[in-house]
Amino acid sequence: MDFIPAFRPPADGPQSALWFIFEKSKLLVSRDNGTCGIPEARRLAADGIVPARQIFLGYLGDSACYAAELEPDTTPPAPYAWMDLRALMNTIGDELFWIAGRANHLMDWDRSHRFCGRCGQPTVDKPDERAKHCPACGLINYPRLSPAVIVAVLKGDRLLLARNKRFRGAFYSVLAGFVEPGETLEQCVMREIREEVGIAVKNIRYFGSQPWPFPNSLMVGFVADYAGGEITVDNVELMEAAWFTATDLPQVPPRISIARQLIDWFVDRQA
Ligand SMILES: [Zn+2]
Repeated sequence: MDFIPAFRPPADGPQSALWFIFEKSKLLVSRDNGTCGIPEARRLAADGIVPARQIFLGYLGDSACYAAELEPDTTPPAPYAWMDLRALMNTIGDELFWIAGRANHLMDWDRSHRFCGRCGQPTVDKPDERAKHCPACGLINYPRLSPAVIVAVLKGDRLLLARNKRFRGAFYSVLAGFVEPGETLEQCVMREIREEVGIAVKNIRYFGSQPWPFPNSLMVGFVADYAGGEITVDNVELMEAAWFTATDLPQVPPRISIARQLIDWFVDRQA
């Protein structure tokens, strides 16, 4: 079943609706018989849970999908539970996970753009598109996207992997970093690799992309070849970096991430 994004909510009331309800980055799930599900509108209503600040997202099959929050100090009863969105990555199914990610991205934007960043007045939702308008000074804010590059650097039959200080757990991954104003994606690849591990890369080619809604990134994946230098870890972002062969990989990120897709691509290529 493919999710179809849409801006205007159904006028005459949908047959069914799924609610992606957030408290900061935690998503409300219903836990039935050990499985996590996204709460359905009728069941929420029957349980006395009233979503607030809703954002329409689109349709999954016949179900309308909404992002929302609850009124402050609302404690949903069991079997509802708040779960960190990252922890649901391999739990609720890919389709629901990516809709939840979209919901998290838009709720985060909605929450942080209630007031105009230029003049401080309250903003209003634009009626004709996904944007917030300041009636006082005219500023329009669209949902914010923060592009980042993520790169598999190859040296012969080996792949560069690093342990980041921010990673939870002991896994290694390919290098990544946010794009800065004024640079191309390729320049960003060269700068990030140079800054983080002190090596030069060449033959940068596009691999694919993936939304990364924690809260608002777009990961743009590349493959590049080693061009010179010795690995020198920056000790700011990275704890450790090294070259690994396909048969000697450390613990790597979860299947759903583009980081893992790049690593799997490398392994398949060596096979
Ligand atoms: Zn303003």
